[in-house]
Amino acid sequence: MLDARYSIRSHTCGQLRADDIGTPVVLAGWVAKRRDHGGLIFVDLRDRSGIVQCRFDPEAGEAFVTAERMRPEWVVRIEGVVAHRPEGTENPSMDTGEVEVEVSSARVLNVSQTPPFEVEAGIETDETTRMRYRYIDIRRPEVLAALELRDRVAQRFRKEFEHRGFFEVETPILGKSTPEGARDFIVPSHMTPGKFYALPQSPQLFKQLLMIGGVERYYQIARCFRDEALRADRQLEFTQIDVEMSFCTADDVLSMVEDVLHEVVKEADIDMPVPLRRFTYAEAMERYGSDRPDTRFDMHLVDLSQAFGSSEFRVFAGALGAGGVVKAINASGAGGWSRGRIDALNQVALDAGAKGLAWIAFTAEDEVKSPIAKFLTDEELATVRRELDIHPGDLALLIADSRDVANEVLGVLRLHMAEELDVEREGFDVLWVVDFPLLKWDEEEKRWQASHHPFTAPFEEHVELLETDPASVLSYSYDVIINGYEIGGGTLRIHDPELQRRVLAILGVKDEEADDKFGFLLEALSLGAPPHGGIALGFDRLVMVLAGARSIRDVIAFPKTSSGADPLTGAPDEVSSKQLRDVHLKID
Ligand code: ASP
Repeated sequence: MLDARYSIRSHTCGQLRADDIGTPVVLAGWVAKRRDHGGLIFVDLRDRSGIVQCRFDPEAGEAFVTAERMRPEWVVRIEGVVAHRPEGTENPSMDTGEVEVEVSSARVLNVSQTPPFEVEAGIETDETTRMRYRYIDIRRPEVLAALELRDRVAQRFRKEFEHRGFFEVETPILGKSTPEGARDFIVPSHMTPGKFYALPQSPQLFKQLLMIGGVERYYQIARCFRDEALRADRQLEFTQIDVEMSFCTADDVLSMVEDVLHEVVKEADIDMPVPLRRFTYAEAMERYGSDRPDTRFDMHLVDLSQAFGSSEFRVFAGALGAGGVVKAINASGAGGWSRGRIDALNQVALDAGAKGLAWIAFTAEDEVKSPIAKFLTDEELATVRRELDIHPGDLALLIADSRDVANEVLGVLRLHMAEELDVEREGFDVLWVVDFPLLKWDEEEKRWQASHHPFTAPFEEHVELLETDPASVLSYSYDVIINGYEIGGGTLRIHDPELQRRVLAILGVKDEEADDKFGFLLEALSLGAPPHGGIALGFDRLVMVLAGARSIRDVIAFPKTSSGADPLTGAPDEVSSKQLRDVHLKID
């Protein structure tokens, strides 16, 4: 809370109440508004704590003359006495609405040009202008409130970790590439021609080294950097609550994180019951078509393969014959949509990777409309109705494909329809998704990729399948999901150097390259590495969800635009040819 200590004022604007009536005060802040009322001037004075009305009487002489000059965002200091507002002029929507300050003297500390937008809640100004003048945007109460919440959440994390025996340890910003699946930012130096540091995509390897170093419990509020495309919930640089523990099982990590989160979310007045629900990756995909399911609404994926076991519809028979599935969702309430509107969903399905979309609409009169109606037997239709719990006005969306594609596409359609149908998604929905496959097949590059990262431990009983059946190997891994956002993820780590080499080999990192890139890790793993595991929580995303904001930019003091630019400072920018020469670089 802002108070008046260590400042030129005696009180803050936002603290004044009826109890203060009669108290002489010195205030300092920004002019929020000035109103001339035939002889009287009212100035709303704002500081971080809030706004108070100041009254300038012509009898105040010099102060009144000064007030006549005041303009929005001028910085002023006033002296006066707190008074009751005249009856009928109180403003119950303001915390200080019962009082005003009768000003006896005023000084302008600084003038301001006309601000580019008004410092008010809920302004419509476009985001780039707000970012260009972010320091003015920050004066707005909602931005200050987001920064305050961010600070409180950070403090709370620190406190909770400290209570549980964790050390905060800083790890290097200038380092060697850590693969988290994104592009590195690289940094040249004048001392190392032709060699580059990489900014950390995460402190992953350093935190593992800390475990090998015997720190046992580490956390860090760590800045991470990933040179990849931005979205509403992603920035080039972002903050992680990074955690690592030794001698623990995956359950231990989950319990610890739940306990900490339970306390932390209280900062946003949220009561989060623990233990949290857990879905295996397979369950989440099967039921929600997503590894970060938003379970605040149903619209589950339903497997209709059995119902269509002897379907005459070529598309269904083909998919089932090839070992695939027919799965569906009930987009309840879309049954009355026009044909054109339903057909447009086809494109959503295609974009998500489907070969096509089948649909059956049930009108309000319970009439069936569907381009595939002629292929459906009465029995099949009855099963669809029963399994999807169809009522008049519903729309069944069906995908026939491999299980993975059908799940993924229906997962996308499920969210799309929730958006289109304005399905209510209230509440604070936290859950774990656990036991991800260790690897995922990259069709474009024709090779295996790590689902989380290459240091993730496979299930002990699956290790023998690594080379023979890599797709079936599960891992000790867990993501925490809030309202459909991936808020964090982590894994138990490989602590055996030979197993680490085997996993790297499957990822296409041959022994020589492994030594070159990760030699230091492999060596450390051979020098008394304890079993260990951890997690990283996306701090910006978490605060965004807690603040009920729509974009992480709203909870970052100086965010970048979606093209990675900072409209305020003009970064990124060109550098002089001397700077380039110094670091031995030439622009091609
Ligand atoms: N380093 C991982 C990440 O940044 C988190 C972890 O495994 O602890 O996503």
